Amino acid sequence: MRPFELTAPTTVEAAIATSGTFLAGGTTLVDLMKLNVMTPAQVVDINNLPLHGIENGDGLRIGALERMADVARHPGVYPMISRALLASASQQLRNMASIGGNLLQRTRCTYFRDIATPCNKRDPGSGCPAITGANRTHAVLGTSDSCVATHASDVAVALVALDAEIRLVGVAGSRTVRLADFYRPPGDTPDVENDLRRGELITDVLVPRLDWAARSTYVKVRDRSSYEFALCSAAVALDVQDSRVVDARVAVGGVATVPWRLTAVEAALRGRPATQESFEMAAAVAAEGARPLSANGFKVSLLRRTIVRALLDVADGGNR
Ligand code: SF4
Repeated sequence: MRPFELTAPTTVEAAIATSGTFLAGGTTLVDLMKLNVMTPAQVVDINNLPLHGIENGDGLRIGALERMADVARHPGVYPMISRALLASASQQLRNMASIGGNLLQRTRCTYFRDIATPCNKRDPGSGCPAITGANRTHAVLGTSDSCVATHASDVAVALVALDAEIRLVGVAGSRTVRLADFYRPPGDTPDVENDLRRGELITDVLVPRLDWAARSTYVKVRDRSSYEFALCSAAVALDVQDSRVVDARVAVGGVATVPWRLTAVEAALRGRPATQESFEMAAAVAAEGARPLSANGFKVSLLRRTIVRALLDVADGGNR
């Protein structure tokens, strides 16, 4: 790890006036500093800032410094959020990691985390060895010839499905951005992962009220049952009346370069009977545009099956 200066401001104004790298739970940043993947000269500990609280009024406001474990057990949080958080990392990490930091976590691509290898995301223009190398866990949707890494967050998938926003504050003022618009597919600039401007800080996560999201879930398929990243995941909510789907929300993770909302699947579900046949028909369009690599072609069918499983789970009231 390289030497760095550490400061711990107590106001948001003081924090954004620095040009340092923000540290919340540290569960991503400290790892990457140990690996020399990130080498900030100044680290700004933001844990003394007043960015806490979970309020459930006409929508949900979650302070960016709320820990994953605390958000997961809050009674006002929709099931898909809670389940996505509980399926993430380990209990120890969930006790440390903040909800704002979770949304900014970096990819788990092994080449990105190994400074002895090229990586366009870490070192722009150096190449992407994953495209022809070890790519079993990589993305099939939203990829480019520059990068095929998946986005690592589980809860971001649920939040994108719920059309959540984040509030950001920087020296130029504050702004609110839809989370779905915040993340950027890699294109030719995989080092630019999101719309975060220099010095900006996430202060709040805002989840619009959606009463029927009480009927929602998050299904995560992975190589082992805990402390593992998704091969594929699905965040699903269903509004079912008289055995028909009135409305639906579907987003997937572990298969795409950004949390991936599937509005085509949602449209295919509306007005259909809430049956396995309808769910399979709707899920059939989920992988449109997929570009499998040499070792991750299985994700195309896994994606459809994960969505169907999540839809059946919700339609059954979570009894599966
Ligand atoms: Fe780097 Fe992206 Fe290629 Fe992984 S997939 S090596 S993060 S450029």
